[in-house]
Amino acid sequence: NITYKPGKEPDPREYRLIFKNVDREGWDTSIETYLNDGGYEDLKKAMAMEPKAITEEVKKSGLRGRGGAGFPTGIKWTFIPPNNTKPVYLICNCDESEPGTFKDRYIVHQDPHQLVEGIVISCFAVGAHVAYIYIREEFPEAAQILEKAIAEARERNFVGANVLGSGFDVEIYVHRGAAAYICGEETGLIESLEGKRAYPRIKPPYFPAALGLYMCPTIVNNVESLCHVKHIIRMGGDEYAKLGVPRNNGTRILCVSGDVKKPGYFEVQVGKITMRELLYDMCGGPKDGREFKAVIPGGSSSKILRCDESFTLRGQGPEGSDKSITFWDIPMDFDSLAACGSMAGSGGVIVLDDSRKMSWVLNNLNQFYAHESCGQCTPCREGSTWMRKISDRIVAGEATPADIELLESVAYQIDGKTICAFGEASSWPVEAIIGKFREELLAETSDSNETVRMSPEGEAQ
Ligand code: NAD
Ligand code: SF4
Repeated sequence: NITYKPGKEPDPREYRLIFKNVDREGWDTSIETYLNDGGYEDLKKAMAMEPKAITEEVKKSGLRGRGGAGFPTGIKWTFIPPNNTKPVYLICNCDESEPGTFKDRYIVHQDPHQLVEGIVISCFAVGAHVAYIYIREEFPEAAQILEKAIAEARERNFVGANVLGSGFDVEIYVHRGAAAYICGEETGLIESLEGKRAYPRIKPPYFPAALGLYMCPTIVNNVESLCHVKHIIRMGGDEYAKLGVPRNNGTRILCVSGDVKKPGYFEVQVGKITMRELLYDMCGGPKDGREFKAVIPGGSSSKILRCDESFTLRGQGPEGSDKSITFWDIPMDFDSLAACGSMAGSGGVIVLDDSRKMSWVLNNLNQFYAHESCGQCTPCREGSTWMRKISDRIVAGEATPADIELLESVAYQIDGKTICAFGEASSWPVEAIIGKFREELLAETSDSNETVRMSPEGEAQ
């Protein structure tokens, strides 16, 4: 019998596990409120289990990481070397910075104990006695809310020495970042946590599960992923896996922003709603007098999709045949969006209507990535700035048609040639926007514009 604040009621198509308490009437972040609602019961259940059995349940649940990559969480946990003798760390990645993504902040602001409980259960499962919550600098209030929640949990012996008399000790520290997007990349985050500049490490060999913080095994999971762990323990892995669709289990929070009548957050069963249901039924359709043009479905790093595109899903038709679908029929899950050439990413759905010029979108993204490149590798450091300078010229009406080719070529020279995924994150939007809106971009160029040569430093000459 949960009621929500007026105007904040969930859409009937939602299935709320993680956001059950978000915008709930009479809800606050105190431990008393959480305990009155059955809080920390899942921790008690987990502490009576064998740590390996918890990992087994998470594996059975099919949970895939909600930070963006969709890597299976339970499998990641098993990557800790079996003969390990070093300390194991758990890091909660709360550096939510992907443009279009705003779910983790709501979890922390409105239900911090859910996260603390998920972290303690996960630490117990992987044998970590120290957990860090790495939180982006721009979330100062969220950091304070977490500090208070951890202190309350410590008072009740859910955190600290001998948790609930089990003999298991765990401490959780909140560590504030310094306002750099790259600190959300897990190895950049680890470097930052070690007190160094957040230069991402080369993976392999530095997959954190084997060689992470202080070169010790480290499990890095996103806020939302860690919250799911407590629900998996409550429901059991098999039962949890019944939510969603095969290989895309459970629920996930979609953050919809941009040109829709009703933007916001929606927790849905993965793959059970289509793009049409999300944008028309849940978000109220396009703004008056406008038409949908394109969608960036999984945060700014995912490839843009045109609303008039069609796709072939290999082997997904009857008896393994191929299946043709339109953009509107795409189920919102990891595999379907990947099959359509994009990705579900961090769940940030950015909607663009016919009032948006693609040159503006392109330049907006290029500005972001040029600013956020950590500068460690040349293709990304130089290329992201070059791309920004070329798209500056396009929006200023100063570009020639050859600039579009140059921009595309720079993007392809970054893609796959960098230390971390930021290289792809910055080049994919450019490749996709040029690939799908070439005519529109070319229309903004002119042969009569001056041809600008670039110096090796990316300066116009
Ligand atoms: P990734 O695919 O390299 O790794 C995913 C996870 O699996 C990592 O934890 C990695 O350590 C682990 N892993 C993968 N292969 C492994 C192996 N062989 N052995 C051990 N561990 C292994 O992706 P990534 O670089 O971690 O993440 C990229 C994604 O992050 C992007 O797709 C983007 O959507 C997302 N992102 C999210 C935000 C946000 O604010 N939530 C910000 C930027 C990017
Ligand atoms: Fe830094 Fe970019 Fe290289 Fe990643 S790809 S390490 S962000 S320069």
